[in-house]
Amino acid sequence: MKSQHVRVRFAPSPTGPLHIGGVRTALYNYLFAKKLGGTMILRIEDTDQNRFVPGAEEYIVNSLAWCGLDFDESPEKGGPHAPYRQSERSEIYRGYVQKLLDDGHAYYAFDTEAALNDLRDRVKAGGVTFQYDQQTRKSLQNSLALPETEWKKNIAGGMAYVVRVKIPENEQVVVHDLIRGEVVVNTSNLDDKVLFKSDGLPTYHLANVVDDYLMQITHVIRGEEWLPSAPLHVMLYRFFGWEDIMPQFAHLPLILKPDGNGKLSKRDGDRLGFPVFPTEWKDPKSGEIYSGYRESGYLPEAVINILAHLGWNPGTEQELFTMDDLIQQFSLERVGKHGSKFDPEKAKWFNHQYMQKKSEGELSLLLKPYLEQHGVSPSAEYLGKVVGLMRERAFLVPDLWNSSWFFFVRPEKYDLQVYQKIWQPSTTGCITGFVQEVEKLQDFNKETLHTLVQEFTSNTGVKMGQLMNPLRLLLVGSNQGPGIMDLAGVLGKEEFLKRISTGLDSLK
Ligand code: GLU
Repeated sequence: MKSQHVRVRFAPSPTGPLHIGGVRTALYNYLFAKKLGGTMILRIEDTDQNRFVPGAEEYIVNSLAWCGLDFDESPEKGGPHAPYRQSERSEIYRGYVQKLLDDGHAYYAFDTEAALNDLRDRVKAGGVTFQYDQQTRKSLQNSLALPETEWKKNIAGGMAYVVRVKIPENEQVVVHDLIRGEVVVNTSNLDDKVLFKSDGLPTYHLANVVDDYLMQITHVIRGEEWLPSAPLHVMLYRFFGWEDIMPQFAHLPLILKPDGNGKLSKRDGDRLGFPVFPTEWKDPKSGEIYSGYRESGYLPEAVINILAHLGWNPGTEQELFTMDDLIQQFSLERVGKHGSKFDPEKAKWFNHQYMQKKSEGELSLLLKPYLEQHGVSPSAEYLGKVVGLMRERAFLVPDLWNSSWFFFVRPEKYDLQVYQKIWQPSTTGCITGFVQEVEKLQDFNKETLHTLVQEFTSNTGVKMGQLMNPLRLLLVGSNQGPGIMDLAGVLGKEEFLKRISTGLDSLK
């Protein structure tokens, strides 16, 4: 048997920024395709003009690129099945709708939105949810209920209509899901969804099925929220006569809020203090800003690892994976059925791990924007020393600067609370005495300073803390920072003495 060439697609709708759940869907498609030597396609599903948000498509493409995910075929790259933007394929769908109409699997419906809303409200008052389906269609305005002459007259007269699928009564539909197994649904529970709208564009369901067929998609890997649509999709494949070549389905489990209570929503992130979008998004209408992983100081490698573990598990203790590792090890069999809780602390842990894997040069580059912002340009050697000393404290990129800024900028303010706590009447004299000794030091470095401190404290009887705490306040402006010897060793003698004298002046 000829082995099948795997073709998968990531098919976002440009209705806003891409939630990390969407990035995970893209990632799993990507890993699945790469592992099997397949093709990864980006298809933009933009047939719902009402929900179209300007800038969303660029956002999706750029944020996936930042994560390191690319496509073999896409609107930008083109490919054998172009165009890859559904709004540019509207003519293609018309023929398929016509075929369903001709074969009796779809019908025209003239009910206005207002009439349907009215009906919905009325039945709701009686505790029932309205569905346009096998039961209700008989008494509504459509080509199955109206006399032929009348509905034909409606169409000829230009009355607005939609095309609905005609779901048969009491048939079994089986969705074979690679993650969930068999999902069996009776068609009596399905409604007659709109396939084609009065604006001349298809709905998601029709366009999605037709394009998956035309683009020869072999596997549909998407979020669990689409599982309820899968039976309808199977029915459409059946109506078109494509059921035996339809793609295989895999519906990915939800990503849950940290407390496990429901789906992680787009508002949760900023509410709970972590991003839920790969990169920052500014809502073009409200101007509201949603924070992104990139801007919050996460590395793309970390984001990929965070997402890889939200749904998939390697079956081993391994936690850190390069993209190549993931490609080798990924399989849908190891994707769970149950939602995974997002753990913000674990997310930071992943980032910390990847920060530690960076070379000094790479970390220096990450610090660059902060240095520029503060108008400092240290030598590469100096930068390397600081980064080497401080890297371990950096969980997110901004920590690199926040935990080391005083290596580059002299403190201008001194923490008064610390001052009041540690400064004694004898402190100034003690520091001045120590400075005299430091000035004599020929070779100033971490080790010689250490020896000097030992000698000074034993000769004068000054306690270690009585010397070190004030020194730290003078050098850094607070009680923060690395060990004093390390700090002084990097600052060098001149800067060390300069800071002490400036500090003593300010604190007078
Ligand atoms: N356009 C759908 C979405 O926005 C695609 C769902 C699917 O992959 O079938 O998620």
